[in-house]
Amino acid sequence: MNYNKKTVKDIDVAGKKVLLRCDFNVPQDKTTGAITDDKRIRAALPTIQYLLDQNAAVIACSHLGKPVATFDSYVKKQAEKGKDPASITEEEWKKSLAKLSLAPVAKRLSELLGKEVIMAADVVGPDAQAKAAALKPGQIMLLENTRFEKGETKNDPALAKAMASMAEVYVSDAFGAVHRAHASTAGVADYLPAVSGFLIQKELEIIGGALANPKRPLVAILGGSKVSSKIGVINNLLEIADTIIIGGGMTYTFLKAQGGSVGKSLLEEDWLDYCNDMMKKAKEKGVKLLLPEDTVCAKEFSADAEPITVDSMNIPDDCMGMDIGPKAIAAYADAVKDAGTVIWNGPMGVFEFPAFAAGTKAVAEALSKSSAITIIGGGDSAAAVQQLGYADKMTHISTGGGASLEFMEGKELPGVACLLDA
Ligand code: ADP
Ligand code: MG
Repeated sequence: MNYNKKTVKDIDVAGKKVLLRCDFNVPQDKTTGAITDDKRIRAALPTIQYLLDQNAAVIACSHLGKPVATFDSYVKKQAEKGKDPASITEEEWKKSLAKLSLAPVAKRLSELLGKEVIMAADVVGPDAQAKAAALKPGQIMLLENTRFEKGETKNDPALAKAMASMAEVYVSDAFGAVHRAHASTAGVADYLPAVSGFLIQKELEIIGGALANPKRPLVAILGGSKVSSKIGVINNLLEIADTIIIGGGMTYTFLKAQGGSVGKSLLEEDWLDYCNDMMKKAKEKGVKLLLPEDTVCAKEFSADAEPITVDSMNIPDDCMGMDIGPKAIAAYADAVKDAGTVIWNGPMGVFEFPAFAAGTKAVAEALSKSSAITIIGGGDSAAAVQQLGYADKMTHISTGGGASLEFMEGKELPGVACLLDA
């Protein structure tokens, strides 16, 4: 995939109507609906401000949550959950949609911008069309949740065309959604000149740069819960990296494949052969693949379980691996010390429990001290780095969990591929 894409700065937006796809998929309080974290809204501000400064008329859009776009599918979904279909009313469905309105986002965005944000009552309906037509340069409006339209997730060309018809230029800044080929993330680019905003530009520059032309040695640290969810990443990084460090829940499938005893640890029996193949492939390619020499385990999966450090190949039958041990920490810190680039995806242990966060914390600290380009991808890894207080010490923390994972897998990202090449 070509990561070299045109940005808002490469296209004339002055006085033009710009359809801007943002990632306003913010977390909300379940009962009150209040936005509990506005990070994603704030992340969109530089591109929005640039467009407004350029005197563009900004038609922003985003999805929020997973609304069910038609009453029929709502009834089906509820019936699957065990509800009596006859008892489900259209009113109840409409209420479920209202909970996922972007109106609270418009309000917060307006506070952050210090300027009115005109809220449309629909996505491509009469209200959106009228408000978009009347929108003046320097003004901003927000369309309703794009997933209120059933064509959004199906990438329906009719919906994409209708969205595009309101604007003259398409700017995508929703990195968190670029791995999805939806009408508002990819389809619209068939009908408008399409460029990236600053958020996507940064992701492409840094992650794309590290994958295509890394400053070496490139060290990949891979952890998290499962081998099966990281196969693509391991496969792709084996082709690129000089060293691969394994930690987290996927460790035990590797250890078992190597003849170790893993007790009650997370284990994916179906992937044992795969792990051995990866070890072999690494050897053939001259890639160093490191497994933890020691493991911190526990008798039960709980925050107050007693941490027991053991040799990784001999985890007792009544124990499960929860974190990498002190020897592994020292070896891993040493492996990143002279790295040119470090890509990190997946925590080293159950960092949510303080007693088992040492491995993840130590790796974060080693990265914070290293002069390497440090890139964090993956939702939980980003959360861990933030929670442990190392966020501002990293070169880049990706804003897209699933998107960064697919990026590291070397997959084509539809929301990037559809943009104009630079
Ligand atoms: P990311 O979102 O960064 O891609 P994952 O979703 O793959 O990361 O994995 C994160 C989860 O893995 C965390 O919730 C963490 O508790 C869990 N995890 C890490 N190590 C272990 C382990 N040894 N046993 C069970 N779960 C683990
Ligand atoms: Mg995750």
